[in-house]
Amino acid sequence: MNTRVDSRMIELVHVNRSFKRADGQTVKAVQDVSVVVEEGEFVCLVGPSGCGKSTLLQMVAGLLEPSDGGIAVAGKEISGPGRERGMVFQKDSVFPWMRVIDNVEYGLKCRGVAAAQRRDIARTYLARVGLAHVERAWPRELSGGMLKRVAIATVFANGGRVLLLDEPFGALDYVTRRQLQSVLLNLWDEGGSAARRTILFVTHDVDEALALADRILVFHSGRQVDDLAVTAERPRTVDSLLLPDMVAIKRKLLAHLGLEEGSAASRIAASHEAGV
Ligand code: ADP
Ligand code: MG
Repeated sequence: MNTRVDSRMIELVHVNRSFKRADGQTVKAVQDVSVVVEEGEFVCLVGPSGCGKSTLLQMVAGLLEPSDGGIAVAGKEISGPGRERGMVFQKDSVFPWMRVIDNVEYGLKCRGVAAAQRRDIARTYLARVGLAHVERAWPRELSGGMLKRVAIATVFANGGRVLLLDEPFGALDYVTRRQLQSVLLNLWDEGGSAARRTILFVTHDVDEALALADRILVFHSGRQVDDLAVTAERPRTVDSLLLPDMVAIKRKLLAHLGLEEGSAASRIAASHEAGV
């Protein structure tokens, strides 16, 4: 009857996470979040700064424990990090003391994959992200965009079926960000829909979410406040963002962020800009 149950990849059930701050106050970073993500889905998490996106992602990664509630990946309750889950952060995803190829191979080496095999895998993914020519380079010799390509190649080479990306392109310029979005989508889609990894991607960039996601989960003050399907065909072009359905979703997202025309937040922002 319900065929979707078998394809559940990530399941959060009434997940809460609080933090005790140094001043003794308790912060409810994530409040009663229940989410199901299907295998192969590309889900973006969007919301204002401080709404709990990173906390949520770190709990799925197994780096933080929920205060309450459960998280299952591929049907198993998680109890810490696991090799089926790979993570990319905004900063520091590449070891500066290792050459590019050694970075990409490192996770495979830790798992005891034979040298020749891990080199093959690393080379394959470096080629896919357009960095075959710099495999012997040191990270300090690469641009910010190239370093992100290394991080993306690494997380795919590691073979995790679930990829958790926390504003990975947040510090890049617009053009580089658009290029990296394509690199990521091409890798995600390379084996066709049946081979897709499941991705949770945090971004504060509404257009980035529209370019990438099958589904956008919106958070506010630790709570999930919306779940928007993005049905536009792939590959998405600049024109896709102008389709009426996409514009409607964008309006909703901007409203959630308090930025739609005429909202109190936009009036306040405008008056600040005008120096009022
Ligand atoms: P986002 O990634 O959406 O910007 P975070 O998940 O980083 O938000 O943070 C959510 C809330 O939890 C914020 O109020 C933040 O200050 C608080 N918080 C996050 N991590 C900690 C921590 N280790 N100790 C105390 N408070 C924290
Ligand atoms: Mg964050």
